[in-house]
Amino acid sequence: MAKLHFYYSAMNAGKTTTLLQSSYNYQERGMRTLLFIPAIDTRHSLGVVSSRIGLTAEAIPFSMSFSFFEYAQDALRTSPVHCILVDEAQFLTKEQVLDLTRIVDEFKIPVLTYGLRSDFKGEPFEGSLYLLTWAEELSEIKTICHCGRKATMNQRIDETGAVLHEGAQIEIGGNERYIALCRRHFEGSMMLAPDRMQVA
Ligand SMILES: [Zn+2]
Repeated sequence: MAKLHFYYSAMNAGKTTTLLQSSYNYQERGMRTLLFIPAIDTRHSLGVVSSRIGLTAEAIPFSMSFSFFEYAQDALRTSPVHCILVDEAQFLTKEQVLDLTRIVDEFKIPVLTYGLRSDFKGEPFEGSLYLLTWAEELSEIKTICHCGRKATMNQRIDETGAVLHEGAQIEIGGNERYIALCRRHFEGSMMLAPDRMQVA
């Protein structure tokens, strides 16, 4: 039975590596997979899924108006598709998550999505919110904070290492980086944010 899967984690837990391994497992058996990556991910050349440990694969870039359902419908005219994999799935819109559920339900194709649950302010991403709500299968890819506890949150820092508390949810082409933290250490750093100082 085809299902919608959401593999969620904090930053740098190996989501993309896991995605590429899953895609490879299908291809090794002569099966066809389709890989998707947001067009806004400018870290790598457009249309390439790239993991930190050096694995890469070609992928189809998607914008916020992209229709996964129509793309899959067209792809199925040439040959069967056995699995669809979406990297950085937090950037999906609500409509696109709905699109993916239709691919699962109408075409009986499993869809594997990989993404972050929350942004650097501790707020949910739209894509992840609806994946957590609508996916049949939720799996956590675990990673740890510097203290050894499970990391569930993502801190954004600038090029000097200073913690950023403000800014857009999606930064394009910036020099910022992300650090996976446990909630305790994330909350500790957020207490220093100007808007939280007033509350405290
Ligand atoms: Zn910690």
